[in-house]
Amino acid sequence: MPDSAAAGGLDTFIAGLPKAELHVHHVGSASPRIVAELAARHRDSAVPADPEALADYFSFRDFAHFIQVYLSVVDLIRDAEDVRLLTFEVARDMARQNVRYAELTVTPYSSTRRGIPDREFMAAIEDARKAAEAELGVTLRWCFDIPGEAGLASAEETARMAVDLRPDGLVSFGLGGPEIGVPRPQFKPYFDRARAAGLHSVPHAGETTGPETVWDALRELGAERIGHGTSAAGDPRLLEHLAEHRIPLEVCPTSNIATRAVATLDEHPIRQMVAAGVLVTVNSDDPPMFGTDLNTEYAVAARLLELDHRGVAALAKNAVEASFLDAPGKARITAEIDAYTAAW
Ligand SMILES: [Zn+2]
Repeated sequence: MPDSAAAGGLDTFIAGLPKAELHVHHVGSASPRIVAELAARHRDSAVPADPEALADYFSFRDFAHFIQVYLSVVDLIRDAEDVRLLTFEVARDMARQNVRYAELTVTPYSSTRRGIPDREFMAAIEDARKAAEAELGVTLRWCFDIPGEAGLASAEETARMAVDLRPDGLVSFGLGGPEIGVPRPQFKPYFDRARAAGLHSVPHAGETTGPETVWDALRELGAERIGHGTSAAGDPRLLEHLAEHRIPLEVCPTSNIATRAVATLDEHPIRQMVAAGVLVTVNSDDPPMFGTDLNTEYAVAARLLELDHRGVAALAKNAVEASFLDAPGKARITAEIDAYTAAW
């Protein structure tokens, strides 16, 4: 079989494969279709409501352009109905890729500081979660993350909402935003509170700074999974620690290129991570804004790791294992992956 046909076969396999996603942002998942719907609700926005104009608006140019698009989408999330629509429609895009389960990173502070009442925000995401499960077969869980660039006031607010208003779908507590100039240890008290309330710790670390940030996330924030952890590959002792303690990495290859955390895909450290025995999961981060989706990320990983369809299925099972889904839920999706793979 020629290479191209083999690759095409693998793409088809990936498209139909039941998948779980662990690192994907709520607002960052707004596709042009969803943004068009939001823009139509808010005609005064600078964002075009015409899908064709939007496709061009969205085509990834550079990181500054990504921030511009991201912020303009944030500006379209003005009331609880926007939140509900965004969340449900993100799940619809996931269902089309056969994503069965996703832990969506939600930044409630971005919405509450813009005036959406916190309880309305919680009700909107929970309403969308229940509808997504019933109508689309997609199970959603939440990771509430601190927008690191917004400082300790945002950390306080995010911890308060996570602990005091805790929606049923909330499973974890995170930390996003820039790493440079935003040391992880200052967020320890907020992670302590969230962890004491039974939430899992999933900070971003080692995306744009060195392995010491990942150590900080482990030691100070009690990280149970690491968002990105790209620079861990430069510290063999850290890779050994992650492998030994089964602390998974949420790897987002195309995002790492888009943000220039990694120069080229061929230089991506995913190979070293896997070779060191680390539990690696593949994720899409802010898919439409980086011009990707989860299926594309699996295809990228398959190429970099030279995987056949069984290897890709094993990667999908890593995500299920690394998730915070309960044991019956994990067993159900794993069985679906196995059945799909066996029938291929
Ligand atoms: Zn992220």
